Amino acid sequence: MKALVYLGPQKKEWTDKEKPKIEKATDAIVKITKTTICGTDLHILSGDVPAVTAGRILGHEGVGIVEEVGSAVNRFKPGDNVLLSCVTACGRCDYCKKQMYAHCEDGGWILGHLIDGTQAEYVRIPYADTSMYHIPDGSDEEALVMLSDILPTAFEIGVINGKVEPGNVVAIVGAGPVGMSSLLTAQLYSPAEIIMIDLDEHRLELAKKFGASKTVNSSKGNVIENVLALTNGKGVDVAIEAVGYPVTFDICQRILKPGGRLANVGVHGKPVELHLEDLWIRNVTITTGLVSTSTTPMLLKTVQSDKIKPAELITHRFPLQDIIKAYEVFGNAAKEKALKVILYNE
Ligand code: NAD
Ligand code: ZN
Ligand code: ZN
Repeated sequence: MKALVYLGPQKKEWTDKEKPKIEKATDAIVKITKTTICGTDLHILSGDVPAVTAGRILGHEGVGIVEEVGSAVNRFKPGDNVLLSCVTACGRCDYCKKQMYAHCEDGGWILGHLIDGTQAEYVRIPYADTSMYHIPDGSDEEALVMLSDILPTAFEIGVINGKVEPGNVVAIVGAGPVGMSSLLTAQLYSPAEIIMIDLDEHRLELAKKFGASKTVNSSKGNVIENVLALTNGKGVDVAIEAVGYPVTFDICQRILKPGGRLANVGVHGKPVELHLEDLWIRNVTITTGLVSTSTTPMLLKTVQSDKIKPAELITHRFPLQDIIKAYEVFGNAAKEKALKVILYNE
């Protein structure tokens, strides 16, 4: 089969790989029909995630058709349409019992990381019964691919951890696919306002289309003063950090009102400054975390009911064999006006 293989920092190849086989009775082999490129794949390609070694097939988002199941798989059979979770979970260990699937003692975030991933014609899914979901007939599969990772990430680590409430003023720093997914899912809680902050004017325009009430371009003027000016000098109730830089974490700390909540979603490659000398007296709460995908079944129903429309995040579509070109577009997102890129193997 063909697959996108990581060959070390800055190197990748669309090449032949052996088709995966059932290794354990709990495995399934899935023919990928749609997959994506995620910002985290770019982190891996720049060498920021050393656990990923040369030879690994990348990708951790996807939908597909079950090709084969191991003898212990009970919920799925060949021919079923399935949504893959970016984390695989045994369903039995102490972490899985607490729905902390990303910390599963025999799984977690491993697809396209510690085992081969979804940017391929076929993928092996360990613990298939607890790591995949049935796709209801008539579903918009493009929308459902966003449920493998970015939508639950934005919802669990941004919106739920940030405790977005009706009437809140919410700021989201970073209008990438994850920040935009926070924008979509925060609206489920009827905040009074959502202020979207980014450097990319095109993404800020898209954010308005997706429901942002106000936008701030952080490359123009003093971003903190500009956000405070938009809130009558009071600041925001919730600041969601969806970038992963010290500067954006700093912005979040400085725009919160007393009692505010900072929900960090961004993956940080460098240490950040924590201004406890200022945060303690303003009763600020800070949360962070790794997506568990425990909310995926609930989000699946919400997407089915059209309350959120994550397929609108998709700006570019490519056949899977053109994945190298797709990476070029995604890697030059501002120039290409790209947000989410989807790959078809149909
Ligand atoms: P992305 O790179 O596509 O988007 C980041 C956005 O931040 C871009 O639009 C960029 O223009 C903007 N930005 C950069 N510098 C800025 C600044 N100074 N001020 C304002 N905006 C700025 O990334 P993404 O795919 O949307 O992911 C966002 C973050 O979430 C990444 O760090 C990613 O690794 C992380 N992530 C975390 C988890 C988790 O489990 N916690 C899961 C998936 C992704
Ligand atoms: Zn991802
Ligand atoms: Zn487990």
